[in-house]
Amino acid sequence: MRGDQFLRSLNDGRNVWLEGKRVESIPDHPAFKGTLTTIRELFQTLDDPILRDEVGYKVPGRERYAHSSFLVPYTEQQLAQRRGSFSCWSSETHGMMSRLSDYARSIVTGWYAARGELSRLDSGFEQKITAYYEHARDNDLFLTTAIIDPQIDRSQGLDDSRIAERFLHVVRETEDGIVVRGAKMIATGAPYTHDFVIFSFLKFGAKDAKHAHVLIVPANSKGLHIVCRESFADHREQNHPLSSKYDEMDAVLFFDDVLIPWERVLLYGDSEKVLVLRANKTANALAFHQNVVRYVAKLEFVTGVSFAVAESIGVTGFLHIQEKLGELLTQIDVIKALIIAAEAGAKPDAAGVLVPELSYIDTARNIGTRFYPRAMEILQQVGAGGFVQTPSGMEDFYGPISKLMHLYFEGASVSAEKKVQLFKLAWDLIGSPLGARHELYERFYAGDPVRGYANQYNGFDKDRLIEPVWKLLKEISKGGVTSV
Ligand SMILES: Cc1cc2nc3c(=O)[nH]c(=O)nc-3n(C[C@H](O)[C@H](O)[C@H](O)COP(=O)(O)OP(=O)(O)OC[C@H]3O[C@@H](n4cnc5c(N)ncnc54)[C@H](O)[C@@H]3O)c2cc1C
Repeated sequence: MRGDQFLRSLNDGRNVWLEGKRVESIPDHPAFKGTLTTIRELFQTLDDPILRDEVGYKVPGRERYAHSSFLVPYTEQQLAQRRGSFSCWSSETHGMMSRLSDYARSIVTGWYAARGELSRLDSGFEQKITAYYEHARDNDLFLTTAIIDPQIDRSQGLDDSRIAERFLHVVRETEDGIVVRGAKMIATGAPYTHDFVIFSFLKFGAKDAKHAHVLIVPANSKGLHIVCRESFADHREQNHPLSSKYDEMDAVLFFDDVLIPWERVLLYGDSEKVLVLRANKTANALAFHQNVVRYVAKLEFVTGVSFAVAESIGVTGFLHIQEKLGELLTQIDVIKALIIAAEAGAKPDAAGVLVPELSYIDTARNIGTRFYPRAMEILQQVGAGGFVQTPSGMEDFYGPISKLMHLYFEGASVSAEKKVQLFKLAWDLIGSPLGARHELYERFYAGDPVRGYANQYNGFDKDRLIEPVWKLLKEISKGGVTSV
């Protein structure tokens, strides 16, 4: 079964650091066990005769199903199939696991799909991306991205040697590949990924060519150190139903002179070319489509929890609670409508790949950065002090004060036990370290939201909206507009 193969594959000599120690066995470590059990089950869906058509597709000429994030969509039905697979895994995890590899896989799929157009960037690109795409697809590789440079001093660029030596760069070329040194800021899912999709983010000048790169780096590369943040996994499942199984670990990557074989060096040495690849519409639209489909599952989950909390304490009749719960529904509808618009507006690219309309997806990603913090605020306002009016565990329901527990924790519409369980779940969303991390994630996963919105403005054809304004004013000055 693929889930078991996945777990077995992780003890491959990689250097994962947690609490000052190198992790000996990734699948057995308590920080990863719950999360990996979740991922294992998701991988098994591809072996399930009923579910496999929902999450995967039969690769022509091959026995096994592949996950649909690898499907290149040429038809509406194939685009819908991709959406269905994202939706299935994210609903299974209530949207709480954002990087189940289908995002990074979609980037690879997009580059592969656009390989004809992108081959002008480098003569070896087409052959390398084709070989890698097929390898990743046929071996169910788990992938993640590591793009942003370490946060050291954002006011300085590569002219500052402290920055230049720490941002990922090539130190030498060898017959076998390039040797890189430096760090990448965050890679979610890093300890249990197979490969990292890595590219430089900033626009560098010609003199900084050694900093420009697009690489695919195996997690067990010699000299690569995966440095985890504190674990938020909490195995007291009843107290922390989300933290016990959905803590996708974030880690910093240190490259201590890592050899990247030539076949995994997609581009290097030319910042302009890296930017062309990074801006490729086919890849971005396919990958960002996953982001927003996944987001619907999360917003629906938070809304469901908020509704249940409101009902459980009898506040649904109050107008301001109804207003706030209604606002949560508008969030879901806005993102859903943008997905429908992006799919309805999908157009074939030069190779005939059906590409969702990126502007609607960008809008969903940008506005989404504001929805989640607001959703958390609403949940807090609905449940108020109830989130801390909970016992430390469920044990007291079965001990000497059991009768009093049932009496005083009872809700408006639910038993005391159910109400406590519900509020513990809600607290895991709004008050736990995992919950705080999710709010940060939704604000920043798509990049800096300030620059995200600014990019929408900068990339927009402004004349289309400005011209009618001048036209109206011209008509007024000519006396062409009559008052009604
Ligand atoms: C939970 C989490 C998971 C993540 N997972 C991944 C991952 O898997 N892979 C990955 O590649 N990245 C990941 N990221 C990183 C994410 O892409 C970055 O956090 C995001 O791009 C913002 O960059 P930054 O954090 O470096 O913020 P900074 O760029 O350091 O910004 C800090 C503040 O300064 C402002 N600022 C900085 N520079 C400028 C400027 N030039 N102009 C205007 N304002 C500026 C910003 O607006 C912001 O308010 C993750 C982030 C989080 C929080």
